[in-house]
Order: sequence, then structure tokens, then C-alpha cells
Amino acid sequence: MLPNVLTHSSDSSASIPTPLVVAMDGPAGAGKSTVARNLAEALNVRFLDTGAMYRALTHLALERGIAMGDAARLGALAREVVLDFDAQGFILADGQPLESFVRSQAVTSAVSEVSAHGSVREAVVARQQEFGREWAGLVAEGRDTTTVVFPEAAFRFYLDASAGERARRRAAELGTPEDVAAIQADIERRDAHDSSRVHSPLRIGEGVTVVDTDRLRPEEVVGILLEVMGVR
Ligand code: C5P
Repeated sequence: MLPNVLTHSSDSSASIPTPLVVAMDGPAGAGKSTVARNLAEALNVRFLDTGAMYRALTHLALERGIAMGDAARLGALAREVVLDFDAQGFILADGQPLESFVRSQAVTSAVSEVSAHGSVREAVVARQQEFGREWAGLVAEGRDTTTVVFPEAAFRFYLDASAGERARRRAAELGTPEDVAAIQADIERRDAHDSSRVHSPLRIGEGVTVVDTDRLRPEEVVGILLEVMGVR
């Protein structure tokens, strides 16, 4: 087994199926997003940023004054708004680009509550599965992609990293190394919320390949995943 690959049960000598679906799960800040984007590029398939869909709905809910606890109105919003992605993999809601709004602190603080509603998840997961059928192949990134959205994906990965390492990475990304402690606390709060919620809690699914990304650069992680897939 490759170093850093903690569990691995799929047969990498099998040929790559088409359309190729790769699902990538893991806790906040484990580097999923960069790795998934780069892996999609290496495989020449599309990137599906599932978190951006929950973030877009959260942004719209904040803008429209919908309470984060209002499951019925949030569910209706999730069913009515057409979520899509542009060619670069950035989120669109009813055709409007929202990428520049969905990473704000206000959205980041509220998104866990919005994404915990079954009514919201049902609509969003259905749309994600539609992408799986419509697109000619994809790398889907986000918690629950390996367990709920694409349990039949050809390759399913869980990227892990310690909370300290994840906080350091996020702080470096934001250019605020002085905020590591606050960021770590926020990551731990989101982990706890996301692992304990009733609908689709964050968990490692049966047969999912776990990769420990501590001390690895994103390109090294992509290399390991390609090797597991038998592409390299
Ligand atoms: O991955 P990202 O940080 O953009 O995700 C934002 C939030 O959206 C997560 O903290 C989680 O609450 C929610 N999410 C989810 N299911 C997914 C992707 C994201 O519940 N598949």
C-alpha cells in the first residue's frame, strides 16, 4: 500500500470506467477543494463543488431575509433556484455568478445550519446526481459525496488531516497566520456540527480510500490519488 493511504479496498488494476465519477469527502480544510479541482483537470473531467451549492443557497437566504432555521422556506428556495456551474467550475444561481459572494464570513458561519435541513439536502443532492448523469465525467467534492450522492462512484476518497494542520492551511490561504487559533476553533465547531447532524453526517463510508494529507502538498496528494486509480 502507498504511504499515506490508510485504507484501500478497490482494485486499481481494473480499467477506468466512463463516464468517470470520482467522489471526494473529508472534513473542512483537508485540502479537498484544491485537490479535487486539480484531479479533475488531470483526468480531463468536470469539477463539482458541492459545498458551493449549499453556500449559494445560504447567500440567497441571507439576502432574502429567510431565517436559517426555516426548513420549509429554505427547502422551497432549494427546489426553486436553478443551481449550475460555469465552464471554470464556479457556481451560478439562476444563471447569476455567485462565486465572489459565497466565501464570505457571513455565508461560512451560516452554511452548516442551512445544509443540515433534510428539505435542502434532498433538492441539492438530486441536482448533484443530475450532474452525474448529464456531464461526461466528474470529480465531486464534499462531505456525503462518497456516501449519499455517489455511493456507486468508480473511486471514492476521504482526505483527512489533523485540525491543527487544516487550520494552518486555511490561515495561510487567507493570508492571516495570526488567526490560526480562531480558525482551528471554527473548524472544530463545523466538524462537530457536521458529524453530529441527523441528515448525512460526516462519516467515512464503507470501502472508501482514506488518505492522510498531513505534510503533503496538493500536487503530491493528486499524485497519490492518480496512482491509486491506476492512471499513473
Ligand atoms: O466545502 P465547503 O466548506 O464549501 O462547504 C461548506 C459547508 O456546506 C460545509 O461546512 C457543510 O456544512 C456543507 N456541505 C454539506 N454537504 C456537502 C458539501 C458541503 O453539507 N456535500
